[in-house]
Amino acid sequence: MAAKKDEFKKEHEIFLEHIQRSGLRRTAQRDLIMDIFLRTEDHLTSEDLYWLVQKEDPSVGNTTVYRTLKLLTEAGLAREVRFGDNKTYYEHHYNHEHHDHMICTECGEIFEFFSPEIESLQDKMADKLGFRPTHHSLRIWGLCKSCQKVETSGHAVASGAQPKVRMRSVTGS
Ligand SMILES: [Zn+2]
Ligand SMILES: [Zn+2]
Ligand SMILES: [Zn+2]
Repeated sequence: MAAKKDEFKKEHEIFLEHIQRSGLRRTAQRDLIMDIFLRTEDHLTSEDLYWLVQKEDPSVGNTTVYRTLKLLTEAGLAREVRFGDNKTYYEHHYNHEHHDHMICTECGEIFEFFSPEIESLQDKMADKLGFRPTHHSLRIWGLCKSCQKVETSGHAVASGAQPKVRMRSVTGS
């Protein structure tokens, strides 16, 4: 699937503007990293992206990929997401609708979902506390369909990664 020349025209403009504002130069390496990131509809760590970039240009270093991802995030093209495994993932942000995630703790598969009902319940809860939400990230850990099948066939599954943060709980009533 070859990328059309103008496929990410708007994204290129946004990125270039941010790079110039930051007093940096536009480079072929940064452009390549951005294009590969935009072509990949997935949740990627800097390391994941590095390996994809390596396939097209082995001269690009790990640090350049990491820094470019940071620039893409600052420019609003990428967004950081964490799934409880101490890694930072990046996904597309620009022109992408809000969504939340379910994470399989067995195989690591990530499912995106959007529920208007859940969204509005969250807003109601915030209202109740007089809280003004700016953004949120709802993550649900568990077992995907195929990993549940493995589990019932006798394989013991370790409990999922729990954040070591104590959270104040608020009941819905
Ligand atoms: Zn949401
Ligand atoms: Zn799974
Ligand atoms: Zn996502």
